This record gives sequence, structure tokens and C-alpha cells, in this order.
Amino acid sequence: MLVPWKRVASWHCNACGVCCRVYKPKLTLYEYLKLRTTGFVEEKAGKFYLKKVGGRCPFQRGNLCSLQQTIKPLSCKLFPFVILKKGSDDALFEFEDREYFVYADPFCPNLRIKRDCTPSVYSAVKEAIMLFEGRGEFKLLTSNQPKELQSLNNTFSIVRGRNKICNLS
Ligand code: SF4
Ligand code: SF4
Repeated sequence: MLVPWKRVASWHCNACGVCCRVYKPKLTLYEYLKLRTTGFVEEKAGKFYLKKVGGRCPFQRGNLCSLQQTIKPLSCKLFPFVILKKGSDDALFEFEDREYFVYADPFCPNLRIKRDCTPSVYSAVKEAIMLFEGRGEFKLLTSNQPKELQSLNNTFSIVRGRNKICNLS
């Protein structure tokens, strides 16, 4: 069950790689077409996904993602966060006169939930919104980032506990 972003106390990604073994990331049509030549995509009932091969994403190398940021699916960049068009008040995020409803997937072992509803991960959610709107080149806080971002990620690990955000469906 997804959790509204205002109930997330902190989150960080330590590249455990579990989400890439369990989830089949949803793709946009554009992402599907870009990755179709790899043979690792599939279409089911009008929706597009990355395939699993041998119980994991075929782009996973060790625990990390081998895809460049430019072709990595948005849903992967945003995990464990998700941006929806409708939702509850505690999921509402207002940005530049627009409303987004942001949730997080507690499947990630590094997501901390709290009882109260005071925003703790505002910057991360804002970053997710920017990515969702196609205004972010890449995200230091992305889940299971490629190796070239690992050192940067380590540098920002303290910040990540306070920041962070989502994925749209
Ligand atoms: S997002 Fe969570 S589950 Fe996925 S690699 Fe990072 S820590 Fe692991
Ligand atoms: S982050 Fe990379 S390795 Fe993980 S599911 Fe997405 S494409 Fe596959």
C-alpha cells in the first residue's frame, strides 16, 4: 500500500537492488519504443513494461543499473515514489500553480514512515516533480543509480535522508 509523501520521515537508496529484482517497471510508449531493440520490453493490455530475465531486470549489473540516465525509465528514476493525478490531502504537493499527488512505496527498506503529517522530504518530492515534468537531467537521489553516480551518491547520502521523491502511474 502506498504512503502519502507527507508521512515519509526519510528515505535514501543504498543500491540494494531488490526493487530491480521484484518489480517490473512500467514504461511510457516513448520509453518502450526506445528500448524495443533490446528485446527486453513487453506490451500487455495496452501497457508497457520491462521484462524480467532470470528473476531480475536484464539491465541490472550486480546491484546497479547499467542504463544511462537518458534512457533509464522514469518509473525507475522515481522509485519508491509515485506521482498520481488524484489522491488524498496528505499526498498533495503544489508546485507552480499545479497540483500533484505524491506517494511512496514502503517496499523499499530504507523508507521511514511517521505518524504525523509534517513534510520532511519536500526537496525530494520537488525533485521528483521536476523529473516528471521533464525538467531534470538526472537525479542524485535516484534509486539504484548507475555506477558513475555512486560516488556522487555517497557524497550526498546525508542530504538524501532529508530529501527525496516519487513515480507516476
Ligand atoms: S530504491 Fe530502495 S529497494 Fe530500490 S535499490 Fe534503493 S534502497 Fe534498494
Ligand atoms: S533501475 Fe535499471 S536495473 Fe533497475 S529495474 Fe530500472 S532499468 Fe532495470
